[in-house]
Amino acid sequence: MLAEIIAIGDELITGQRLDTNTKWLSERLLECGSTVAFHTTVGDDLANNIDVFRIAIQRADIIVCTGGLGPTADDLTREVIAKAAGVPLVLDEDSLRHIENLYTSRGRKMPERNRLQAEFPAGASPIPNEHGTAPGIAMLVKRTGGGNCQLYALPGVPAELKPMWASSIAPEIIASQSEPRITVHRRLKCFGAGESHLEEMLPDLIARGRDPVVGITVSDATITLRATTSGPNEAACLEKIEPTLQIIRDSLGTLVYGQEDDELEHAVLRLLKEHQQTLSVAEWATGGLLSERLELADEEDHFVGGAVIRSLKQASSSLGVAAVLEPNSPQLAEALAEAIRLQTGADYGLAVSAFPPDRNAPEAHVFAAVASAEGTRKTRFACSSHPAIVRARTAKQAMNTLRL
Ligand code: ATP
Ligand code: MG
Repeated sequence: MLAEIIAIGDELITGQRLDTNTKWLSERLLECGSTVAFHTTVGDDLANNIDVFRIAIQRADIIVCTGGLGPTADDLTREVIAKAAGVPLVLDEDSLRHIENLYTSRGRKMPERNRLQAEFPAGASPIPNEHGTAPGIAMLVKRTGGGNCQLYALPGVPAELKPMWASSIAPEIIASQSEPRITVHRRLKCFGAGESHLEEMLPDLIARGRDPVVGITVSDATITLRATTSGPNEAACLEKIEPTLQIIRDSLGTLVYGQEDDELEHAVLRLLKEHQQTLSVAEWATGGLLSERLELADEEDHFVGGAVIRSLKQASSSLGVAAVLEPNSPQLAEALAEAIRLQTGADYGLAVSAFPPDRNAPEAHVFAAVASAEGTRKTRFACSSHPAIVRARTAKQAMNTLRL
């Protein structure tokens, strides 16, 4: 079944707001076995919206649109669907009561304008919205020349749209197929090698036409391998996907650090948890990024403290590191790692420092050190010295040294 997503709103076409709903809906439609053939974005303009919907009704089997269901004058979706389908708007008493009750429960009287949100194109049914006033719209629209198009209209607010999709729309789309087919994907996350090097280690897996198909994407040196397949249900899909994931794990070894939404800090914290150990960090170059990432991911207090260092004077006064050390040196990283470990009483102290030899140099030299009861391990690596890259890369590289 061919699907079209229509994202509505001036804030989208003017670039003020990123259209994340289309991305999210595309992934969900794919999981339900639909092929997304079109993404359309349109501003809050009545004539343009009617055009867009008339075209979509003719070419798509399923339309999912988002936005324009609010009560304000620029919210036109109800009217647009009625006009494109050639039917009048009619009041739905149940929806009106739902909206009135929502206001009453918040101790307020419903503004008259909100009545509009209880109006639906004749023949449509409301999709309940537990988190907001605007119900969605589900409607089977007849095409000129025969056939039907199933249309779903959802609010623009992502937190309202997502539960409405899950409880009302996804089950309906899956059930409407004569032979239900869903698409499932699983991701493995890798770090520590370049994209082409990694692909060479996976012979034949990234070939077109393979099932499961394996895709490779890179973001800030983290490589994601995604295996996708379709089948009648999730268990059947996973049975096909698992052997492929196993081949990847066997071929890449420790380059694979996690799965799905895992970041390197999750992998590090898992290891610390496994051994019931703690970690602290001293960072000169990443401005607190290491601490921030660890703190956000840490659920059980395995990360016990962090220091952001900007000068030898500060390193000396706050961590007692000898001010005579060379700033651009592995010895400094080593001293910082040992000092932060001692100061916080952690099992591991991780330190990082990065120095572009000069601001225009193409590479930054990064030193990382991990101190533990067994001694201190130092690593050195190079990465781009571009300010937008150096901090994120350095944080990831440093985190990765803890895993190895
Ligand atoms: P409401 O019932 O809350 O008024 P609505 O259907 O009228 O919802 P909009 O007014 O268009 O929706 O948008 C509400 C909020 O959702 C805004 O903050 C908007 O920026 C956001 N939003 C709208 N469309 C999208 C989109 N495609 N992706 C991400 N956010 C969106
Ligand atoms: Mg809007």
